Amino acid sequence: MKADYIVIGNGIAGSVLAYTLISHGCRVMVVGNAALPAASQVAAGIVNPVTGKRLSKTWQADVLFSFLTPFYRKMEAVLGADFFHNMPVYRLFTSVEEQNTWLARTALPEYSRFIRIPERLYGAYINQPLGGLEITESGYVNIPVLLEALQNWLQAKGAWQPGLFGHDQLEIAHDQVSWNGISARKIIFCEGPTGSHNPWFSWLPFRPVKGELLTIRIPGVEMRHIINQHMFVMPLPEGDRYRAGATYEWKNLAWEPTQTAQNELITRLKHILRVPFDILDHKAGIRPATSDRRPFIGMHPQIPQLAVFNGLGTKGVSLAPYYAQQFADHLIHDKELDSEVYVGRFNSLYYLSE
Ligand SMILES: Cc1cc2nc3c(=O)[nH]c(=O)nc-3n(C[C@H](O)[C@H](O)[C@H](O)COP(=O)(O)OP(=O)(O)OC[C@H]3O[C@@H](n4cnc5c(N)ncnc54)[C@H](O)[C@@H]3O)c2cc1C
Repeated sequence: MKADYIVIGNGIAGSVLAYTLISHGCRVMVVGNAALPAASQVAAGIVNPVTGKRLSKTWQADVLFSFLTPFYRKMEAVLGADFFHNMPVYRLFTSVEEQNTWLARTALPEYSRFIRIPERLYGAYINQPLGGLEITESGYVNIPVLLEALQNWLQAKGAWQPGLFGHDQLEIAHDQVSWNGISARKIIFCEGPTGSHNPWFSWLPFRPVKGELLTIRIPGVEMRHIINQHMFVMPLPEGDRYRAGATYEWKNLAWEPTQTAQNELITRLKHILRVPFDILDHKAGIRPATSDRRPFIGMHPQIPQLAVFNGLGTKGVSLAPYYAQQFADHLIHDKELDSEVYVGRFNSLYYLSE
């Protein structure tokens, strides 16, 4: 079988990239394995243009957020699935300084698109001595629903190969690669956190971060905002159920949930919520984060048949659509990649590792 691209991995990175390439008329074969753990199966899927401890506009917010809503809406229509949900974030102020800063920022054109200061919301359920900020253009993608719909779509096109890709079975010729009877112009690795073990890209400075989250029930309470203060509490479609997370852990990178993280989340939840809750589920995953918190996109420095689309870190859902489009333009039309995501920014590490 002949393809233009073999894509390894069917998390949000591989799936969105494969969909984008196919939408541009490319022949793609995606290799994925449901038995392997994936960050995308655990993630809450939140998209939020105003984030972080310093509460500022997220990197590239203007371009990413202009791109992602039409992208996911179109993808829903093409796949015949419902996974993109607009939902405002209610970010609770943590200090008077923060409150004043944001009152001033609501008047700035570069912020007014994304924020407003509402009357206090959910006063009976949430501790909020200083009120909060409402962030619009936010919401979440139900990633498992997206991935399943995409897998069915790929399968119908003969573009899906379930299985485990073995790096040692890849044959590399001067103008193509072959694996398991499939030959292609390039192979694109979208392996998420296990990409740090890829024999051709292990020189990249991955900094994987473990995250854990809970599914909880807040009996009788139905909020319609994602509540955010040092954690998120995100309403699920099923009435009084919520996803609550997440933790950040750089040392213990096992995929199993831990009691320590659960205790941390319970403490933070009790700080936010004025009402009791029950824990229904607890999950852990590893985020494919990088040393400079920017994705790794582009070709291997010496073997251009090998490429990588990885390092989406904590924000795969916001980053994948725009950068998949940019990578497709690079692969098909030789357009330049943003220097901040271009994998060549680390070429010196590659030559040092040789
Ligand atoms: C607790 C938690 C909460 C999060 N919340 C959010 C959030 O709210 N919003 C957000 O945007 N992001 C969130 N993230 C981050 C998000 O999960 C990642 O940015 C995103 O999932 C990365 O996608 P990926 O496709 O690169 O990696 P993955 O989802 O890990 O996918 C990699 C895929 O490659 C496959 N693979 C690897 N090696 C092979 C092989 N040899 N053969 C075949 N297949 C292979 C794996 O099976 C897997 O399916 C969260 C992460 C965690 C852990």
